[in-house]
Amino acid sequence: MAGTPLQSDKSTSTSVILNPLPPSSPSTPPPGWYWSLPYAAMALFIATMAALLWLTYRQDTEEQRATLINDVLWMEQNLSFQFDRNSSQLSQLGPALLSGRTLDSTTAARLKNALDADTGLIRILWLNQDGAVLGAGPPYTDSHLVGEAAGTFPSSSAYRLARSMGRPVYSDAYAVIDNQTQFEAHIPVFDGGRYLGSVVGVYSLNSLLSRQVPWWFSERYRVAVTNTAGTEVAAKSKVSPLSSLNYEMALEPPGHGLTLSITAYKNEVRWIPLLLMGSLGVLATAIVWSLWQLRRHMQRRQAAEQALRAEHAFRKAMEDSLNTGMRARDLKGRITYVNPAFCRMVGWSAEELVGRHPPMPYWAPESLEQTLAVHEMVLKGNAPVQGIEVRLMRRNGERFDALMIEAPLIDSDGKHIGWMGSMVDVTEQNKAQELARQQQERLQATARLVTMGEMASTLAHELNQPLAAISSYNTGCINLIEQGQLPRQELLGILAKIGKQAQRAGQIIRRVHAFVRRSEPKFEPVDLNTILREAVGLVEADAQRQGVSIGLDLASPLPPVAADPVMIEQVAVNLIRNGMDAMANTPRAERQVSLRTRHQDGMLVFSVADRGRGIPPEVAGKLFAPFFTTKEEGMGMGLNICRSIAELHRGRLSFEAHPAGGTIFNFSLPIAP
Ligand code: ADP
Repeated sequence: MAGTPLQSDKSTSTSVILNPLPPSSPSTPPPGWYWSLPYAAMALFIATMAALLWLTYRQDTEEQRATLINDVLWMEQNLSFQFDRNSSQLSQLGPALLSGRTLDSTTAARLKNALDADTGLIRILWLNQDGAVLGAGPPYTDSHLVGEAAGTFPSSSAYRLARSMGRPVYSDAYAVIDNQTQFEAHIPVFDGGRYLGSVVGVYSLNSLLSRQVPWWFSERYRVAVTNTAGTEVAAKSKVSPLSSLNYEMALEPPGHGLTLSITAYKNEVRWIPLLLMGSLGVLATAIVWSLWQLRRHMQRRQAAEQALRAEHAFRKAMEDSLNTGMRARDLKGRITYVNPAFCRMVGWSAEELVGRHPPMPYWAPESLEQTLAVHEMVLKGNAPVQGIEVRLMRRNGERFDALMIEAPLIDSDGKHIGWMGSMVDVTEQNKAQELARQQQERLQATARLVTMGEMASTLAHELNQPLAAISSYNTGCINLIEQGQLPRQELLGILAKIGKQAQRAGQIIRRVHAFVRRSEPKFEPVDLNTILREAVGLVEADAQRQGVSIGLDLASPLPPVAADPVMIEQVAVNLIRNGMDAMANTPRAERQVSLRTRHQDGMLVFSVADRGRGIPPEVAGKLFAPFFTTKEEGMGMGLNICRSIAELHRGRLSFEAHPAGGTIFNFSLPIAP
């Protein structure tokens, strides 16, 4: 595995999870006119369309006007033609009518034909040379005449004028009953220069209009005739609103101030341009509205983009300022992301690392297999939550310890896409821990040495007595033998005493040996009273020498405690000795060390009370400090070790002033569960 070349998959390295946003382009908002452009274009478009519509309308109106004029001219021509035809017809009838003979059938038929409704003539009169009515068809009557016209029918002025001019003359128009208007055409009839009389055709303006104006013309236009006073004297109209399109012209040939007025009817509502205009308006409104919406949308997007950029910048800043290395891997173990702290730790750049497959360049070759095993464990999802320590290598070959904490990488859809790992360089921390451990060990070794020194002196002290006894018993025996006295019983007694003293010396040595040999505590259920009794046994000789009595007040039975008996004994010995030392100046009779055991608040407590000098406040603060002593030959480690032992047993060592003078040390131990 160590020989596997490093694999790099640069082709896919683009799939870095935290894709950076494109470098922040200067996102200056567009100038104010930028947003007006579409509106201006829109307004221009609408204006153009409106102009187009207006031009079309204008053209339409012009066309209508031209059509009107054409139609009117046609109308006028049609009327003149009809007048001319009537005149010539009347002129041709003249000789027959004025002959004085009864009308023959041909003349009667022609007369009837001339009075046909389409001609506009309603009556034909024929007058003699003097203007008297010779005959009429239909028969002559003046009952229809009203106003000025009454009495002057037929018009004498027109008669005279026609006669004198020798050509057809039209009379003024005049009103008759039923709001009708009439005028006459006087046609003088000559026979080779001799005036025979006149034929008068009476026209009804109303019937003329109704007959001469064809249906298609009256569908489109209102045709009216007005007199000089502007009064409408005849009209052909249907009820329909009129447009402003109007044309007036003199009604020729009658003349005499009659005006033909033609007004176009208002067109049907022109739906197509109207619809066009309406849809144009709707379209324009829709476009403006959608533009406005688009603009709002753009503004919102811009704001969101800005916020995203700020967020991204903030996260990037956070990420860059992290001191914890971060690394993401996909499900196959390929690196997809590393943060700057990670790069700083391992010494490879993000470009070099992203896309790589295991083994990674920062894996230390000597622990490659182990690191690979950790890697596979992570990929299987079995990484311990509290993290795992691995030994890695920087680019410069330097090794370092890293604490890796791995967690599944879940994307925004909740899909597991890989693993996210944080890496902390714990090399310094490990070093510090190791140093502290070594220091602790050294301290313990020193403490043990100190204790050993104490023990050595104690041992010398303790052994001195049995050895002195053995020596004196021995001297006694020698003396007895030298004197030749060999009382068997006495000798046996002395030798038994020597043996006992030797046993005692051996016991002392064993205890001291056991104390020195043990460094690691060995917890076992012990009876506190027994330990205290043994401790008293150890110091008994000293106590006797110093004139100190040791009193025992032991509560019995006591529950067992889980403790190292040798250590507890060491504490007891220390406390008793300190008590005895403190009573150096106490009157001999009062020198007493009282040992007491009791069961209190779930703890077993033993106290050692002395009647010594007590502990002054300035000493109390540093009592447990290592190497603090007020004694000439003291080491100042006793209480320090005692407290360590108490803590080791989850117990407590404290002291208080004795109410009767002196000090009480309390050592409490938790009862074994
Ligand atoms: P050492 O006995 O070697 O001096 P210790 O740590 O046992 O070291 O004690 C430190 C100091 O605490 C002693 O020097 C003494 O001044 C004080 N001391 C300890 N026990 C007592 C006591 N029972 N009464 C008065 N002073 C004491």
